[in-house]
Amino acid sequence: MPEILDGRVLSKKLNKALKVRVASWPRPPGLAVILVGRDPASEVYVHRKGVVAGRIGFLHRQIDLPSDVSEQELLDVVHGLNQDDAIDGILVQLPLPKHLDSLAVMAAIDPAKDVDGFTAASAGCLAQGRPHLVPCTPKGVMVLLEEAGVALSGKHAVVIGRSNIVGRPMAQLLEQANCTVTVCHSRTQDVEEHVRRADIVVAAVGRPEFVRGDWVKPGAVVIDVGINRLEDGRLVGDVHTAEASEVASAITPVPGGVGPMTIAMLMANTALASAHRQGLDG
Ligand code: NAP
Repeated sequence: MPEILDGRVLSKKLNKALKVRVASWPRPPGLAVILVGRDPASEVYVHRKGVVAGRIGFLHRQIDLPSDVSEQELLDVVHGLNQDDAIDGILVQLPLPKHLDSLAVMAAIDPAKDVDGFTAASAGCLAQGRPHLVPCTPKGVMVLLEEAGVALSGKHAVVIGRSNIVGRPMAQLLEQANCTVTVCHSRTQDVEEHVRRADIVVAAVGRPEFVRGDWVKPGAVVIDVGINRLEDGRLVGDVHTAEASEVASAITPVPGGVGPMTIAMLMANTALASAHRQGLDG
């Protein structure tokens, strides 16, 4: 059986340590989360983020806006939070309703408060190899790999997906950890042949059980970023976990793998932003 890379256990440990660390700071880190509309999945994610932030002792503010909010009204809220000294991190829950331009909204966030790491400034720093506020999901994957003692230097990593939120920053972080990285996307021919050569596979596709067990090289480490709800209500990842577990040396479960790490990294980024803004060394 492969080693299970348990994001629930690790995230709890990290959140606990963070709670202790920020307790002595002059003021608590402040996180503002903006939720536009009433998408049920987004409501669940935002609620979870608020619960964890509260537990760690952060100041937490949730701003609910109606689904027909105008872009200007949303930008005014972001600008207000940029000016608010108690707020260190601003997160706009995605996806936004179609009439809103997410890139324009992201661009309005003060890069010093960009705890999701989605602004062009944060992405540019990462691309130049001087990461500061890094997107939470790929950052969480790196911490999971590090905690499990997975050696990365010289290894071949295959990342399936090239989104700005997961795949692209994931590939950059792995490359900066001295992996040789192959990125697959919807136009890649023969994805499985690439996966067969991978020492580390990261699946961020958004397709249930896309990666099959016979694609996985024996002994490979398999990271499943996907979260897919099936018609029968089951939650599955982008990897066929049962099949891949027959051959992998380590694998993340879904749920309980990358998901909790994403929230833990949001808290870590908020603390990092706060430490900078408070003149602490973090
Ligand atoms: P996304 O923006 O839809 O990107 C999906 C990527 O997969 C795209 O780059 C796409 O290629 C590629 N792709 C689609 N079909 C493919 C195929 N047949 N072969 C190879 N590549 C293919 O999704 P995302 O935001 O990156 O999220 C990916 C998954 O991670 C989703 O299941 C999402 O729910 C999950 N997720 C989980 C967390 C977490 O905390 N665990 C956080 C974020 C996302 P193109 O670029 O060519 O279109």
